[in-house]
Amino acid sequence: MNKIIRNSRTFLFLAASLLPAAALSGCAPKAGDAPAAVVVQPEYTEEELAAMRREETVVPVLEEAAALAEGYYYDEALECLTHIPEEFSEDPEVTQATASYTEARNAFVPYEQPVRHIFFHSLIVDTDLAFDGDYMENGYNYWMTTVDEFKAILEELYANQYILIDIHDLCEEQTSEDGSVVLASAQPMVPEGKIPLVLSVDDVNYYDYMKTDGFARNLMLDEEGNVKNLYIDEEGNESIGDYDVVPILDAFVEEHPDFSLRGAKGLLALTGYEGALGYRTNDGENPSLEQDKETVRAVAARLKETGWQFACHGYGHKHTAQISYDTLAADTSRWREEVGSLVGDTDVYIYPYGEEIEYPSDKLSLLQSQGFRYFCGVWSTQAFVSVKDTYVRQTRCNLDGFTMKTRPEAVADLIDVSKVLDPSRPELK
Ligand SMILES: [Zn+2]
Repeated sequence: MNKIIRNSRTFLFLAASLLPAAALSGCAPKAGDAPAAVVVQPEYTEEELAAMRREETVVPVLEEAAALAEGYYYDEALECLTHIPEEFSEDPEVTQATASYTEARNAFVPYEQPVRHIFFHSLIVDTDLAFDGDYMENGYNYWMTTVDEFKAILEELYANQYILIDIHDLCEEQTSEDGSVVLASAQPMVPEGKIPLVLSVDDVNYYDYMKTDGFARNLMLDEEGNVKNLYIDEEGNESIGDYDVVPILDAFVEEHPDFSLRGAKGLLALTGYEGALGYRTNDGENPSLEQDKETVRAVAARLKETGWQFACHGYGHKHTAQISYDTLAADTSRWREEVGSLVGDTDVYIYPYGEEIEYPSDKLSLLQSQGFRYFCGVWSTQAFVSVKDTYVRQTRCNLDGFTMKTRPEAVADLIDVSKVLDPSRPELK
């Protein structure tokens, strides 16, 4: 018994599983309670006890540190290893882990080229419904990507050494001599050999017009609190699963944590005129308005916990360059009131139709006064990033039917289109 008592932690651990809770919490047993079990422990050698302590205190920490390191959280992994008890500090597995995470952390290199930014719309789940010959078919064929294509694109990007980063890694804040804060171009630090990439998804609103065309209906939380899609097939059967970019990419990163730099996933660009994330939070007549707002808040919170960020895509998906200053002001305020109030503030503005404004201009000042600092247009052919004192521009490349069918060579650095293109696509008209 003597040896057991010295190893008080193991003793308590064993005892806890045998004694009623009251005995451990110090409460006197009430009359009628079963008497505390008599704990009879076998004798252990010092080595066996040490092995038990290692199993209990070292192995889980090593496992946690390894999981952190897989996603490039090296500082956190090293911090985790400091919780290993002193007596195991020379354990070969511990010293090896410490050395390898330190080396990996110090092996990041600046990426010197402009960073690519790719974007998608909601994915086509049922190609028979999307490409059914109706008036929407050609639009989907141009601007959308199918679920199978998106999965193949992820495999291609991963094989080609791309790694998702946070758009905010493109610049850093610097305090100038007069004390004002200015933005300066930053070369994102990435593991050697990796190519940083920003990803976004436009119009994550699940518009009414898509309902009968083979797309998911919304983003929702499943019973475990994970973000999934509701999908309703042609016969009206409902299923909850991975039917759009968010849960498909979440699953891919779960399987390949080294595809995401410190958990970065992507930007979800929202409009507001049909609510957000598939919920009609814009509609005063919606009988479940308050509940839907609550749902959007909850889904958004979980998305942010899992590496996603939000961007403003205009309230009414208007032509930002063509509308008046006052219209833009009203549109942006309304987005912040109706959408930003649910998903949180953002400093990223993703232009509807990819139509950029002048730099500088009154409209730029207006958007900056609303908190926006990152402005994203569309330019498929090559990466473009420009960091000025007070804002950042980055253009984006659409990996959709239009790009893949008409200029596959423009994205050959990203993917091999012949391995991706869905054979069920009709000809572009
Ligand atoms: Zn859009």
